[in-house]
Amino acid sequence: MKLTPKNDGTVRVRGAREHNLRNVDVDIPRDALVVFTGVSGSGKSSLAFGTLYAEAQRRYLESVSPYARRLFHQLSVPAVDSIDGLPPAVALQQQRGAPTTRSSVGSVTTLSNLLRMLYSRAGDYPPHQPLLYAESFSPNTAEGACTKCHGLGRVYEVTEQTMVPDPSLTIRERAIAAWPTAWGGQNQRDILVSLGYNVDIPWRDLPRKNRDWILFTEEQPQVPVYAGFTPAETRQALKRKMEPSYMGTFTGVKHHVLTTFANTQSALMKKRVAQFMLSTVCDVCHGKRLRPESLSVKFAGHDIAEIAALPLKRLSAVLAPFAVTGGHAHAANPEKTEVTKRITADLTARLAVLLNLGLGYLSLERSTPTLSPGELQRLRLATQLHSNLFGVVYVLDEPSAGLHPADTEALLDALDELKQSGNSIFVVEHELDVIRRADWIVDVGPGAGVNGGEVLYSGPPAGLASITESQTRRYLFPMATPSHAQRRTPKAWLKLSGITRNNLEALDAEFPLGIFTSVTGVSGSGKSTLVSQVLVELVAKRLGQKLKTEDEEADGLEQEAIVTTGGKIVSGMEHIRRLVVVDQKPIGRTPRSNMATYTGLFDHVRKLFATTKLARSRKYDAGRFSFNVAKGRCETCTGEGFVCVELLFLPSVYSPCPTCHGARFNAKTLEVLYCEKSIADVLALTVDAAADFFAEDPHVARALQVLQEVGLGYLRLGQPATELSGGEAQRVKLATELQRAERGNTLYILDEPTTGLHPSDVERLQRQLQNLVTAGNTVLVVEHDMQMIAASDWVIDIGPGAGDEGGRIVAAGPPNVIAKAKNSKTAPFLAATLL
Ligand code: ADP
Ligand code: ADP
Ligand code: ZN
Ligand code: ZN
Repeated sequence: MKLTPKNDGTVRVRGAREHNLRNVDVDIPRDALVVFTGVSGSGKSSLAFGTLYAEAQRRYLESVSPYARRLFHQLSVPAVDSIDGLPPAVALQQQRGAPTTRSSVGSVTTLSNLLRMLYSRAGDYPPHQPLLYAESFSPNTAEGACTKCHGLGRVYEVTEQTMVPDPSLTIRERAIAAWPTAWGGQNQRDILVSLGYNVDIPWRDLPRKNRDWILFTEEQPQVPVYAGFTPAETRQALKRKMEPSYMGTFTGVKHHVLTTFANTQSALMKKRVAQFMLSTVCDVCHGKRLRPESLSVKFAGHDIAEIAALPLKRLSAVLAPFAVTGGHAHAANPEKTEVTKRITADLTARLAVLLNLGLGYLSLERSTPTLSPGELQRLRLATQLHSNLFGVVYVLDEPSAGLHPADTEALLDALDELKQSGNSIFVVEHELDVIRRADWIVDVGPGAGVNGGEVLYSGPPAGLASITESQTRRYLFPMATPSHAQRRTPKAWLKLSGITRNNLEALDAEFPLGIFTSVTGVSGSGKSTLVSQVLVELVAKRLGQKLKTEDEEADGLEQEAIVTTGGKIVSGMEHIRRLVVVDQKPIGRTPRSNMATYTGLFDHVRKLFATTKLARSRKYDAGRFSFNVAKGRCETCTGEGFVCVELLFLPSVYSPCPTCHGARFNAKTLEVLYCEKSIADVLALTVDAAADFFAEDPHVARALQVLQEVGLGYLRLGQPATELSGGEAQRVKLATELQRAERGNTLYILDEPTTGLHPSDVERLQRQLQNLVTAGNTVLVVEHDMQMIAASDWVIDIGPGAGDEGGRIVAAGPPNVIAKAKNSKTAPFLAATLL
């Protein structure tokens, strides 16, 4: 790697080979808005993030820490010959996988710190109360946290009813549901036998005193345990002082639940014990999480918890007058007036940026796990806008995701501002409005995966018009107007009434069945609340369908309790047999799950391997070919192919397993070949290659064909779930669903399925969804993409604005009707697309 710092305003990349990049050379201007385009999987991110950002970060870390230099030497040097003229980089990347930190809008933007300072120094204190430090206004500090709920806002109770839901069972029959299911529960039962409790009569027939002791005692007696003995045998053994199997320690059930909840590292365990706890709002702080003395301090008549719960737009309106006057109440105290003025002016200036980015409907207390990735990215962007850095390159991943075209304009202005202050902006984007505003385009392609990885064009947008291989070209410079397909008419209606949640209040809504519907509206208007939350939950409940995977359930606990929910289905359920939600949540958090396992395709492949001659002679069954089973996998990495390297102060990094070098299986397993390929070789195939390889096997071939149809032919079968983008994960889910033989009457719900998709991929996705409708199903999407909306049979526009300015159905009807609707923010954009 040679480093020749040059400063002629150009970043020069030579020989980039990261992932699928084919020895790419490209020159990119600095101090400009550069947009990387190309179909999904073409290599845009590999160039922008995998090469440019990775290298900038590596250089930065090398310059600050020899320790980091050592680590990064082994770990993540991007495959590139040289990069010249690269400024330091800040990445505003959308999270792949789930956010782990518990933070709020206020903490991410650091606005909460300012607000605490405001309350500490310029709040109205009750008479005789001394001034509090800023920390006293944070529920995360000992000074501030409510002493009853420790700043959680909720208290957790464990009762006999929660721990023993069915008192007609005996202890042996697992009356105590809160005990661990496996050995731990048996152990506790055996201890109770040694202690002389009757474990063979119904729980409710035990004396109250015994029940209370078992559930609530804090004592932890140690007693001899005779494993496998009957109660009578145990009594005998105790009398004769026989040598016990071991000494066991009893733990009260409540104690077990509470300590597990407080101490376990496993989200699943936490989730398990949480079901035995009742949570109620703390009666001391009423959910405000702070001590009474902190809450007694007011600003503009509000305590700090109330202020933090206001939508940012209202917060800004409350604070703005103080920024001018400093507040009349302090006329006698010029110092306080000055402090008030300064802090509120700073707060309102920063809030203005957030409002401009269309985030005025959020509140400071809103926790980040409940935000969409796009919202989170815009929050971070707003924070950067205020940091006054210059000479930096910002690398962004689809910043328009989740944005209504009406909001995209403001985003572009924000990016422009960053550029004007002397920064470079590199953006990976599919939205045509963003691409048109670029100073420079780097178009990667022509196809995805091995069919992409080349820079087709690097220059100002107009020049792309002459690049015939570019898939981006025909959308940026449309040759033909979109055709108006025959619109379908609804077969029936699903009617909901009295919906109350988030910003929806007693809303009635009707969804047409048997056709393709888009739900539109500016971000924060209530689309997801209506469709992905209320509709999904109500329909799932009526169908008795379970919605979440175990992995997602483990997460549920971290999510906030929904405060108000109301609404019911009035009619139409008789037309729905099944509900399928295809979202962008990751399909797994570890490299252990991958596309082949998720779609079920791998089961068939393993069976094929088990039928080979060598496998049969060695008595290898299909399980042998799973990297989740001890028999066949590499033991060093327990089948992950990677080992996890923990880094101080940095996210941990996966590095290839030193034993199997990523093959994931042990040597014996790899000796078994099917058509001359080992199981590891098969996992390394792309879907396209595998489709040829397995052409003879109908099960596998069908699954592969569907993956190709949703545009994932470029992915490797064994591609770990952690490497898939949200959009790719969503398409894997869609393919899994498409693979099931369809009988119709299924309701498909998709939240912004076009995220991460190039217009040509959007077209392909549209065809798939239209096919589902033709087969007698209903498709309902939440969308911002006009191409998709224009092609729907029906549109439901929510709004008109965001937060409490939205939440109503502004218009509903076929696209041409919506295009003319007054008061709809979607109408003008739709009208322009339908021309
Ligand atoms: P785009 O950003 O254009 O959608 P990417 O740069 O993410 O495309 O991907 C380009 C190719 O590199 C794809 O074939 C993708 O599957 C592959 N790829 C992406 N991330 C990784 C990774 N971490 N390891 C190996 N291959 C990857
Ligand atoms: P859209 O999908 O149209 O972008 P949402 O349904 O996500 O809009 O949001 C509608 C309103 O509900 C917004 O004011 C938003 O801040 C609020 N909201 C959404 N989810 C939550 C949540 N989990 N907790 C609190 N408020 C929420
Ligand atoms: Zn409390
Ligand atoms: Zn290994």
